[in-house]
Amino acid sequence: MEQEEIVTYFSTLRYLLNERRDTREVRWLDLYNQIQQEDNEQIGLMLALVHPHNYEEKLRKAVLNKELRTYFVTSRFDESTLILTSKCHIGNLLGIDGLECPYIKQIQQDHFWPYSLGGPTVKENRIHLCQECNGAKSNSPFLFKSEETPRWLKKKLELIRLLLTR
Ligand SMILES: [Zn+2]
Repeated sequence: MEQEEIVTYFSTLRYLLNERRDTREVRWLDLYNQIQQEDNEQIGLMLALVHPHNYEEKLRKAVLNKELRTYFVTSRFDESTLILTSKCHIGNLLGIDGLECPYIKQIQQDHFWPYSLGGPTVKENRIHLCQECNGAKSNSPFLFKSEETPRWLKKKLELIRLLLTR
């Protein structure tokens, strides 16, 4: 994320997480509507809205269909989708073209936007990293780069809205 986006991400999270759950949900919906109306895709704002603290209570009580399971519960990528011949894509993560990973380590599938921060286990949010780079990335939100708003992000916001207004 760019510096400005990180500031927005942190301030939005602070704003939401300091609220009691019921008022937090109201504020969440206000921010969601703001994004829809202004057609203003601020990535820092949108990523703050998918933080699990915003919806985990509601999720606990919800009946989960396949889609909700995929977007909210499944935390590991299917081993059968692991591309063993894949190289470590650390360059993609950092947005540096042609950067070669120096390590010779086992390749793993990880979440581009971390699972712990609301990143879903879908192909679009998957990155192949070696064990070393994956460990360095950990659950950091700072390494996230995106030219355009990921489809999963819009989809997840829509699903959260449905959860909160159910
Ligand atoms: Zn690597």
